[in-house]
Amino acid sequence: MSYKGSSRKTKLFMKKLSIAFCTIIFLSILSVKAQNPIRVMILDGEMNPYHRWDLVTPILKKILDEPKKFNTDIVTTPPENGDFSDFMPKFTDYQVVVLNYDAPTDRWPEALKKSFEQYMLNGGGLVTIHGANNSFPEWEEFNKMIGVGGWRGRNEKSGPYWYYHEGKLVTDPKPGNAGSHGSRLPFQMKVVNSNHPITKGLPSVWMHQSDELYAQLRGPGENMSVLVTAYSDKSNKGTGYDEPQLMVISYGEGRVFHYAPGHDATSMSSIDYVVLLQRGTEWAATGEVTQKVPDNYPDANTVSYRPDIAATD
Ligand code: ZN
Repeated sequence: MSYKGSSRKTKLFMKKLSIAFCTIIFLSILSVKAQNPIRVMILDGEMNPYHRWDLVTPILKKILDEPKKFNTDIVTTPPENGDFSDFMPKFTDYQVVVLNYDAPTDRWPEALKKSFEQYMLNGGGLVTIHGANNSFPEWEEFNKMIGVGGWRGRNEKSGPYWYYHEGKLVTDPKPGNAGSHGSRLPFQMKVVNSNHPITKGLPSVWMHQSDELYAQLRGPGENMSVLVTAYSDKSNKGTGYDEPQLMVISYGEGRVFHYAPGHDATSMSSIDYVVLLQRGTEWAATGEVTQKVPDNYPDANTVSYRPDIAATD
């Protein structure tokens, strides 16, 4: 074996080694990127008579922890009559804020509101769940973010009613209070926009577990697209219209997923609730949905729910 030949072999070996080394580094970068979790803030607090945010937040966290896609922190506002002067969460540390907050009066200082508005205008994400659309009736920018809301003095000054009648989206300016629901019963949900990443691949109709079916929501509805409605039956104090339940709104560069169902653990145990919270949160954070629709998704006639979540009621 000559010295020259041995040197060539060594060079070839070194070349192969360096290619292998670069490949390992490249694959590691890819895998770190793939595993980089979406940063979520659940913003909750301030007890009100209707919704137990303290019982709802652990369920939201459990649901968001399951796909191993989200890294969720919980931020709680000061209590009723608490001091908000030092409360300034760093919204920009997060890709999406899941709002589980409502209060009888608006206690947020102007600086806090402006900070949240700026976060959203610059491309932040917001998911409002159920009773969160009751909050802040007078905060104009918040109402633009959520599109529509209910209760707490909202009326025709807040914007028109939005509902579907005979397959068409209606904006109805007639006077009246905003927000109503009947008894908590199972009801069908119907997709009206199947091209959106959140609804793509879902059945066109499914049965949702017992819940408050929100109706008569009013608001500016700017840049709002309704994805899913539910028929508000007059036999259960309803309107006789298909009422918007899942909406997406663009606010500046920000994305909002308005998720009206989910009064309590029973309603949140519905498989569709779990799946749509996961998909909607991913979309609000990234503009994409990579999660599949599971086989146990409810069909048009039968509810499908998670006993482990329902048991926490
Ligand atoms: Zn409720």
